[in-house]
Amino acid sequence: MPTRFVDVLAPVALDRTYSYRIPETFDLKAGDIVSVPLGARDVMAVVWADDAEPEPRLHNRLKDVDEKLDFPPLKKELRSFVDWIADYTLSSRGMVLRMTLRMGDLGPERLRLGVRLSGPPPERMTPARRRLIALLSDGMLRPKSEAAAEAGVSTGVVDGLVDEGTLEVLPLPKAMPAPPPDPDFAVPEFSQGQQAAVEAMRAFAKKDAFGAALLDGVTGSGKTEVYFEAVAEVLRKGRQALILMPEIALTGQFLDRFAARFGVRPFEWHSELTPRTRARNWAAIASGEARVVIGARSALMLPYADLGLIVVDEEHDQAYKQDEGAHYHARDMAVVRAHIAKIPVVLSSATPSVETEVNARRGRYQRIPLPQRFGGQHMPHIEPIDLRIEGPPRGRFIAPRLAEAVRHAIERREQALLFLNRRGYAPLTLCRACGHRFACNICDAWLVDHRFRQRLVCHHCGFSMPRPHVCPQCQAEESLAAIGPGVERLQEEVAALFPQARTMVLSSDLITSIEIMRSELNEIAEGRVDIIIGTQLVAKGHHFPRLNLVGVIDADLGLGNGDPRAAERTFQLLNQVIGRAGRESGHGTGYLQTHQPQHPVMRALIACDREAFYQSEIESRERTGYPPFGRLASLIVSAGDRATAEGFARKLASTAPLDDQVKVLGPAEAPLAVVRGRYRYRLLVKSARGYDLSGYLRDWLAAGPKTKGNLKLEVDVDPQSFV
Ligand code: ADP
Ligand code: ZN
Repeated sequence: MPTRFVDVLAPVALDRTYSYRIPETFDLKAGDIVSVPLGARDVMAVVWADDAEPEPRLHNRLKDVDEKLDFPPLKKELRSFVDWIADYTLSSRGMVLRMTLRMGDLGPERLRLGVRLSGPPPERMTPARRRLIALLSDGMLRPKSEAAAEAGVSTGVVDGLVDEGTLEVLPLPKAMPAPPPDPDFAVPEFSQGQQAAVEAMRAFAKKDAFGAALLDGVTGSGKTEVYFEAVAEVLRKGRQALILMPEIALTGQFLDRFAARFGVRPFEWHSELTPRTRARNWAAIASGEARVVIGARSALMLPYADLGLIVVDEEHDQAYKQDEGAHYHARDMAVVRAHIAKIPVVLSSATPSVETEVNARRGRYQRIPLPQRFGGQHMPHIEPIDLRIEGPPRGRFIAPRLAEAVRHAIERREQALLFLNRRGYAPLTLCRACGHRFACNICDAWLVDHRFRQRLVCHHCGFSMPRPHVCPQCQAEESLAAIGPGVERLQEEVAALFPQARTMVLSSDLITSIEIMRSELNEIAEGRVDIIIGTQLVAKGHHFPRLNLVGVIDADLGLGNGDPRAAERTFQLLNQVIGRAGRESGHGTGYLQTHQPQHPVMRALIACDREAFYQSEIESRERTGYPPFGRLASLIVSAGDRATAEGFARKLASTAPLDDQVKVLGPAEAPLAVVRGRYRYRLLVKSARGYDLSGYLRDWLAAGPKTKGNLKLEVDVDPQSFV
């Protein structure tokens, strides 16, 4: 037998593959996961080609593959997907591969412990304890963390009940394979308005072919129930389904809804999994035991044994864009993966991205509409509050009319949600005596006052310092003033206005774990909070039955910062947050506090005229050649000093190949000019639609100047962020 060779790709920041010799003791095929010597280490790698033909003079220098590892091989479809993403985003293939191989570490099998109900109830009962006891009253033994998560309590609550003798601790039997979801477990009765969408969805998912559908339904129309029918079809075929979600905050209620429909919970995939669960779930996905996976964007990269459907929930959400490492957009890549795997993909939204909306209008995506709220509930009524005319008193942020509405809501024992997309207490602190403003030393940003933590914090690099009592510039004492509101300051105002109300602030920086977040969302859903104050964390997806009033404190916040997507984002976010109101009662109201009620976004929101918004936005994109009517890429140059960054950016721009389909704008100083002590310059590359922009960039960068020292060049194809 002649010696054979393979090319392997390692999950490290390299684009190229390396050749190795196949030892005589085993055979290898493309996709096999192996261990190879690389430099001084042994690394895991994947066979990318099993018919490699290295130059004969190298044959004796090539090393042997160490070992074939005991994992299912990566399918051709996934390998092509890795190549595709790397090619499109100009990332190294190894880096993209790394995302598929994040299998965690199962570690040695150790004895796992569980808890179950055994003793009398505790002396002191709390709502959390009651939920936990209710969960465990079936007498089943559950791992501690699982019991806590399912009951929506912290593990401390479990420990407390163990100490009191209400619960006992026992070793768990070895993990059993999870029972599969049952597509017929509890099929809901669909309303007349939903029936057509359900039929279309089932027919769409039945096909074993690529297709993209836009499930286009207003908030509360039952999009989840409808796409569950697509999942059911795929389960009947014995294949796997992936449901992508923009935010793990959403998954708590979702897991329960899924279990109510299919009898068991789905597998999860996101950054908060413990290494053990990650390892277990990765293996279950690769073996096919995990039939339905619900995950954050990274779940798209996993090695499914037999993926038959992808659903992208809230497809317009910007959280789908990854802005570090490989800059990829999980919604767009979901469509690519579905195309390569020849399977259907469902994009679901009440406010589709302009790209998706245009694809639906052109007929490239099948539109499946759900125009009404389930149960005949009305959409929320929207009341603008013109801050120029009826704004709050100086130093306050809740206009009298909104405060009045909140008071009525509480009197009716309903909930109110006050939305302000700003973390912390105040975005700026200044000295009243000398005008000194507190800024980050290494970023071009003000320090944000966080009163709960009692620190001034930079939101870009995480730098923080205690809030001083003396101005560092003029030494004046107690002279510092907070300028502008954040959610913490809003809570102070709410406490002053409604001293009896139970309030809760939901903001990503106040939530230290997914368990705590789930338990807080549970408390709201169960009606144990009167006024919810939150950032965008509360805008998405949640279903709070007692919530009928939403007040947007600063509707203009996301507008007018020069970002080409500002209008679209503001429309989507506000539509979504107002959509939390009246989901069960059918009489929701959304108050919009704005300085510019004439702005097209506000006008469309106030008139509930979605069509008007898309019409004007699509026209403006068409006129300016912005996506999807043209293509964009950003090149971000950064360095430790301004001159180096600017010099390189200029040199780079001067080497851009001439092409009448491409325009290179800049370099210009980035809106966020300094981050973590690095000076930033941006180039914006615009091309015609359908043009191979990635290919253009690759040729340009291959021939252009090379980064050295601490210069860095980031490439962002289809950018979402322009800061
Ligand atoms: P959307 O995702 O479109 O905002 P959801 O899927 O969350 O809407 O549905 C809104 C509410 O209506 C949920 O509580 C859901 O369980 C309920 N619902 C929707 N359709 C049905 C149905 N056919 N039968 C029972 N409940 C339904
Ligand atoms: Zn900073």
